[in-house]
Amino acid sequence: MTPRAPHTQVAVIGAGLAGLGAAIQLKRRGLHSFTVYEKAADLGGTWRDNTYPGAGCDIPSHLYSYSFAPYRDSTVRYPRQPEVLAYLRRCAGDHGLVPHLRYGTEITSLRYDDTTARWILGTATGAEHTADAVVTAVGQLSLPKYPDLPGLDGFAGTAFHTARWDHGHDLTGRDVAVIGTGSSAAQLVPEIAGRVRRLHVYQRSPNWVLPKPGERFHPLLSAALRTLPGAHRAYRGLLFRRSEAVLLPALRRGRTAALLALMARRHLAAQVPDPKLRARLTPSFAVGCKRIVLSSDYFPALTRENVELVTDPIARVTEKGIETRDGTLREADTIIHATGFRTTEFLAPMEVTGSGGRRLDAQWRHGARAHLGIHVPGFPNLFLMYGPNTNLGHNSVTLTLEAQAAYVAQCVQLLTDHGARGRRIVLDARPEALEAWQRRVDEGARRTVWTDDCTNWFKTADGTLTNNWPHSATLYRRLTARPDPAALRLVPADRLPAR
Ligand code: NAP
Repeated sequence: MTPRAPHTQVAVIGAGLAGLGAAIQLKRRGLHSFTVYEKAADLGGTWRDNTYPGAGCDIPSHLYSYSFAPYRDSTVRYPRQPEVLAYLRRCAGDHGLVPHLRYGTEITSLRYDDTTARWILGTATGAEHTADAVVTAVGQLSLPKYPDLPGLDGFAGTAFHTARWDHGHDLTGRDVAVIGTGSSAAQLVPEIAGRVRRLHVYQRSPNWVLPKPGERFHPLLSAALRTLPGAHRAYRGLLFRRSEAVLLPALRRGRTAALLALMARRHLAAQVPDPKLRARLTPSFAVGCKRIVLSSDYFPALTRENVELVTDPIARVTEKGIETRDGTLREADTIIHATGFRTTEFLAPMEVTGSGGRRLDAQWRHGARAHLGIHVPGFPNLFLMYGPNTNLGHNSVTLTLEAQAAYVAQCVQLLTDHGARGRRIVLDARPEALEAWQRRVDEGARRTVWTDDCTNWFKTADGTLTNNWPHSATLYRRLTARPDPAALRLVPADRLPAR
């Protein structure tokens, strides 16, 4: 360790939705000795990075917000990226987080030092910092995934990823290829279709699409939200219960699955009159196996004169464009990779070494797992925000993040309370707790449509569900309401058993 490395009681890594949420909960408990390390020059995480045309949130803003920082705009139902970013800035400002934010500091390694019971944080510049506890909040959708296509390097035009949008590159009048048809592409395509000359959308496999209500509230609803006492809260509650009661059972092959399938088929039939195109847009798997796309303007964009959906597999990229396996070359001057993210790598590329020199990547070689998605046994005083199996497929991720933030703040409080009078305390999860948790996850996963035969970003290449929580948000909140003494070890640092 470098001599006199700067020390903080709690190091939060990442200033996105999760990191800011954790920081707010620490503050609310009167815990002010923390630093939020952020590699970029601004906060916002995915909402800072994803600035492609049309980028927005398809979860209603009243639900895509923290209950302790409620959303109170009575005009916006579905916020666009600038509005979510503005919400996050407001959270940081209102809760006094700004002095805690340390921008331009990329943490590249975390190493637990058994002798001092502290974490050593290595940075991209080689500097080191130390912390008693670490909260990682690096997101699940932060590492862009680029397609591994032959010839890509030889493409003569401009190519970039939706999460790394090139704002200096005007698409007006251009021949554009979009690779990928997930939620990002579905938001992007309608937005650019009208201004490019030609647009080729390369689809490897189709997604089920459900209609999306308007981004703004109807004036009457807007007036009700503005004037009726408790209306914002009630609306949020309604959204929450609807997701738990309708969407979750559908994803678990329950009674509402048929209803969702009917809605998706009707939407497709209503928006795509051409039966051949419709057939190419019809998935072969259950609704929800891939994340459902919510859009009322994606299909209409595909039926425009200047837009072509290409379903022949891509063979290679040439200097001039993209060639499909049937030998057709479609010229392009711009390729946009709407190809998603490296979602199952979790804390990568950070190198994380726990007690006794154990490596997290080795421990996770068959898929990431953590008790409650938060604790990894053998990595004391390390808390994961938005860790394995805590993404929600049916409800707003802010719900699990809020539960985690409150839980982690309680854990830090425990460390502070028990560590008084100079005693160093560490908190570690029991391996049996992780095993029991994993059994619950695996049992739930088997009931969901996510493990069906489709590709999605929730599972590893071998089909292990590592990203989504397969039960209700209500259950997750209950399990994380408070630290469970039976699942954890809270011991003086010098008494942690040798590993
Ligand atoms: P995604 O859902 O993972 O979609 C990636 C797309 O790229 C898929 O269509 C995939 O095809 C295709 N693809 C990947 N590699 C390819 C290759 N080598 N060749 C051809 N096609 C390839 O990524 P995303 O659209 O960026 O969305 C990721 C997640 O971000 C969403 O599911 C959602 O959770 C979140 N998001 C949310 C919003 C929102 O409104 N809240 C908006 C955007 C994104 P296959 O399907 O065949 O694999």
